[in-house]
Amino acid sequence: MGSIDVTGVVDWLTGFAAAVAEHAPELTDLDAAIGDADHGTNLDRGLRAVVTAVAEKPPATIEAAAKQAAMMLIAKVGGASGPLYGTFFLRYAQASAGLDTLDAAGFAGALRAGVEGVAARGRAVLGDKTMLDALIPACDAFDACAAVGAGLPAALAAAAAAARQGRDATKPLVARKGRASYLGDRSAGHVDPGAASAALLIASAASAVGGHL
Ligand code: ADP
Ligand code: MG
Repeated sequence: MGSIDVTGVVDWLTGFAAAVAEHAPELTDLDAAIGDADHGTNLDRGLRAVVTAVAEKPPATIEAAAKQAAMMLIAKVGGASGPLYGTFFLRYAQASAGLDTLDAAGFAGALRAGVEGVAARGRAVLGDKTMLDALIPACDAFDACAAVGAGLPAALAAAAAAARQGRDATKPLVARKGRASYLGDRSAGHVDPGAASAALLIASAASAVGGHL
């Protein structure tokens, strides 16, 4: 499949919800180390609400699906990550407006818009030990892959691998944003929980389009 349509985006959201449900204890453990031990439960609650919303009111367009996700995440997730993931999907929705399908170029634009939205909302940059440390490398890997003519599945598979690497690379970093930054140097030595959930977000997108390298 070289492109994703509204059904694919719903599959992505459903897959992300399933991955977060499966890994919620792990995400919460990471947040227990450098935050307040709620990241897994927070996101799980929000994504369950997203799955219910798209089942009750099936979206007709990619824009509508992403907007529904944004609204539920903003409404249901307590904590920093709700508005941040909400902003991701809101910007993704805006970038997809009027498009029935996203091919690699279309997805690249929507992904970049979403990630730039997170950076603007969180006032964070690469290396601050946040979800952006998974999301920005994912975007860059996607673009590099698409630039040499790769299709959507291959570009997303590369993005998912880069997100996992970015997640792991947060371990030695000292947090400069969010709750973990209150710990100063003591935040080093732990993977950032938001980077871990962001790696699941991109992996779920890759799975939804049947990504393989
Ligand atoms: P809270 O910190 O309010 O309890 P969560 O535990 O749900 O919220 O989410 C924490 C995650 O949110 C962090 O691991 C980090 O990845 C992300 N985060 C926090 N603040 C920012 C920010 N300013 N910019 C980007 N991401 C952030
Ligand atoms: Mg927390």
